[in-house]
Amino acid sequence: MAKKELEKNRLQSELSQLPAVDELLHEAVRREFIPRFPRPVVAEQIRELLAKVKTRVLQENLKVKDLLSDASFWPELERSLTMFLAPALKKVINATGVVIHTNLGRSPLPAEAVAQIAAVAGGYSNLEYDLKKGSRSIRYVNVEDLLCRLCGTEAAMVVNNNAGAVLLALSALAAEREVVVSRGELVEIGGAFRIPEIVTQGGAILREVGATNRTHLRDYESAINDETAILLKVHTSNYRLSGFTGQPKMRDLVALGHKYDLPVIEDLGSGNLLDLKAFGLTGEPTVSETMAHGVALATFSGDKLLGGPQAGIIVGRRELVEKLKKHPLNRALRIDKLTLAGLEAVLKCYLDPLTVVEKIPTLRMLTESPENLKKGAQKLQRAVRRYCQKNNRLKLKIVPSISRAGGGALPMVELTTFSLFMKVEGASSVQLEQCLRDRSRPVVVRIVDDWLVFDPRTIFEDEFSEIGFACQELLSL
Ligand SMILES: *Cc1c(COP(=O)(O)O)cnc(C)c1O
Repeated sequence: MAKKELEKNRLQSELSQLPAVDELLHEAVRREFIPRFPRPVVAEQIRELLAKVKTRVLQENLKVKDLLSDASFWPELERSLTMFLAPALKKVINATGVVIHTNLGRSPLPAEAVAQIAAVAGGYSNLEYDLKKGSRSIRYVNVEDLLCRLCGTEAAMVVNNNAGAVLLALSALAAEREVVVSRGELVEIGGAFRIPEIVTQGGAILREVGATNRTHLRDYESAINDETAILLKVHTSNYRLSGFTGQPKMRDLVALGHKYDLPVIEDLGSGNLLDLKAFGLTGEPTVSETMAHGVALATFSGDKLLGGPQAGIIVGRRELVEKLKKHPLNRALRIDKLTLAGLEAVLKCYLDPLTVVEKIPTLRMLTESPENLKKGAQKLQRAVRRYCQKNNRLKLKIVPSISRAGGGALPMVELTTFSLFMKVEGASSVQLEQCLRDRSRPVVVRIVDDWLVFDPRTIFEDEFSEIGFACQELLSL
């Protein structure tokens, strides 16, 4: 009993030595934590650390004096403040080989776009102001002509993303009327974008036609009635039917639309502006090829095959685009100035077909030759070796493998690559992969058969040495 009492007294006198928050705040000023970090945040972190100190005094029998020493409390406070204030949205190194990686921000922007965004971001701009007339204008004018030229259409506009573009088109052109869609195209794209639901959300009525594997022109025709507003085609993204399948030719569907005075609208998904066939990438027609078939309106993303910022691009017939521009939903879906600045710069890259692939990272990565990728893998291996010296726990090998376009684009295409496979003896690949993610400059990799896989296709050259450095950290596990 007496012993317990004694212990209680000792703890109490130990805890009474805990300084007040104000006292530590003064000390934080003296040590120049303030104004380096915002005072309210410093106060909050001090409170949290003090609570931890108290717990340790009680549970681990440690002394306040030691826990608050120069060597422990203040460096710990600095670490937690730095972590708290570091950007939460930050650069990561994409070593997965998935070029249009939705979770990693899809397309990296070309330098031209980054510069244009920076030029506009910090000040005022003529976003909706006609500098010739000195009066109000609309925000797409700066890209509408470019889009028309690149897509071969008479009108164009841009909204926040492609999901928004489809929703706007349905709301403006088919509300309370029927939309005819093939059963083979009632797909879910991911991120809860499902065609049947988006049609309903747009206030329209879904008329599904055909069978899952085959839809004929006569299926479309027999569904048409007085309530029909549009014939909708949907790119099935990364979902594919094979075997006994069929869809009517676009030309025939457009002719059917003409017969009944109905527009054919296509959700193209990625919508590429450059003919990728020359690079052996087949299966994705260009937007202008689609429009040449007589499609009335097409929508596509800005950040998939186009290689630009997140945006939903709508191109096609003027009277339809005008209806979309005037619809109230357009105001809710409108694109911001930073995106518009980036998009304009990206579209201008397409004006020169000879240099566009070099300029736009997404296109460059998609079309990179296997020989160059092999050289990339070797270079990466050298970078890792340089940092890790002759550590014999480290196993490296270069292996032919496959990278993917991602983002639902070019779903059937297997891109040949050479990847650096890596193992550290004594550590599991899951553990290593997690460490790479935990860094302040995270590296995201794939795991194949207990090897970490680094695909040079999506790694920028200036990231090689950072990966080498990260691997050195792994060896200390
Ligand atoms: C990706 C995709 C969408 C959604 O586009 P976001 O720009 O991500 O909104 C819609 N439809 C298709 C066919 C797609 O591939």
